[in-house]
Amino acid sequence: MGDLHRERSSPASVVVVESANRRTKVIATLGPNSSDEATLRAMIAAGMDCVRINMSHGKLDDGLQLYRRVRELSAEVGRPVGTLVDLPGPKVRAGSFGSDSVVLVAGQSIRLAPGNRASTAEVIEVNYDELLSHVEDGDTLSFGDGAIGCEIVGRDGGSLLAQVTHGGPLSGRPGVNIPSERLQLSTPTREDLRILDAFVEAGVDMVAVSFVRSAHDIRRVGTEPHPRGPLVVAKIETRAAVQNLEGIIDAAGAIMIARGDLGNECSIEELPHLQKQIIRMCIAKGRPTITATQMLESMVYAATPTRAEASDVANAVFDGSSAVMLSGETAIGHDPANVVRTMARLAARADANFDYSGWARQMVELHMNEPSALDRQVTDALTMAAARVARDLRCTAIMCITRSGFTARAMARYRPDAKILAFSPDERTINQLTLSWGTVPLPLSYFASNDEMVTEAVAVSKARGYTRAGDVVVVLAGTDARAPATDVLRVVHVT
Ligand code: PEP
Repeated sequence: MGDLHRERSSPASVVVVESANRRTKVIATLGPNSSDEATLRAMIAAGMDCVRINMSHGKLDDGLQLYRRVRELSAEVGRPVGTLVDLPGPKVRAGSFGSDSVVLVAGQSIRLAPGNRASTAEVIEVNYDELLSHVEDGDTLSFGDGAIGCEIVGRDGGSLLAQVTHGGPLSGRPGVNIPSERLQLSTPTREDLRILDAFVEAGVDMVAVSFVRSAHDIRRVGTEPHPRGPLVVAKIETRAAVQNLEGIIDAAGAIMIARGDLGNECSIEELPHLQKQIIRMCIAKGRPTITATQMLESMVYAATPTRAEASDVANAVFDGSSAVMLSGETAIGHDPANVVRTMARLAARADANFDYSGWARQMVELHMNEPSALDRQVTDALTMAAARVARDLRCTAIMCITRSGFTARAMARYRPDAKILAFSPDERTINQLTLSWGTVPLPLSYFASNDEMVTEAVAVSKARGYTRAGDVVVVLAGTDARAPATDVLRVVHVT
């Protein structure tokens, strides 16, 4: 971190952005090309805030080993790196096409049969036992992240007959998107719960639940509330989840806009608008939002992103994403550290142009429309006041002394210009805050009197270079170690 980059379009518009000033977080999916120590080290140095271990691929033991490696490296470099395990959910997949691509051509006739054996260009096996009874004529199914599609035109004995609508290459075991209203599978699956148990035992920070349809699916995860248990991230990737969005956001700790599967479930022109709508509701409710999938897809092979990808990242930041996520780009891409560095630069540059004052006006509106319980109202009121004080007094930092991370997440909604420094004695809270926009998670020895906590937080912020003598900062904390919620706002002159 700390490297500078310049936009050289014209002398008048030269903008120098320090990557250390980035506010939007970067999550990278790990895979075969990013599992070794040297690459992980380079990715952390390039700005990776959080890793995603995607359990749709690979064995449980390998996932756990990778998790432990990240933990060790994070401790060694002295920087919190969040760990997010992504549960596969009832993901339907095709039988393997092998490592060499098989090409399907538009107009071609194919057969789809329930099973898990090898697929060919003529017969594709699909690991969904109820394929023949649940899928109907006229349904459209797609493979991969929607790259290849087909329409069901009939059935013949033990298989469905289909016509390829858009063709392309398929290799490995691509995901098969069957319209979610046809699928009678619940999430989390038994296998998800087995994976979850092992990762909870190992101490994972966050868990992503796939193919969520309702708040009930989130409740079925059954882990202890965060920070004792992992922060539960609901992936929005089904039509039902969009319909039940409010309840899902209330039940979850954070949201991922899983644009790959969501783009199969809704028409593609709806996707950018759904992204904005989901982010807006998450902000009103103080939940971090991750925008995911195909953000820098071309960088699986290329050294630089396309112009459209660069715009997509910037627009995700302008929409209010807390974090942006890399998938195949870092899991199987040829240079994962370069992709992370590029994403970090794009996000930092977009952060610099973010409309902070326009956002504050919008927040007042969103906040007024959102009913809440009393303890939440206190935090809401104090964080709103802190945003105002920080702006009016040109404060360097807003310090949040937080048990569960709730105050820091509530503060991040206001997108303050001042850095949010979140102090907690709980290591899990610190790691869970690696998802939160603009938040620097920092350690605190223990909860004590308000004076003791504020003195320690100011000293740590100064020792680490986030503040210096002469700065004015806002501090949000509880009255003492027993305070159930944040109830004190102080303005402190750093000496
Ligand atoms: C997605 O569908 O965009 C996604 C992030 O989920 P997965 O990678 O599990 O398909």
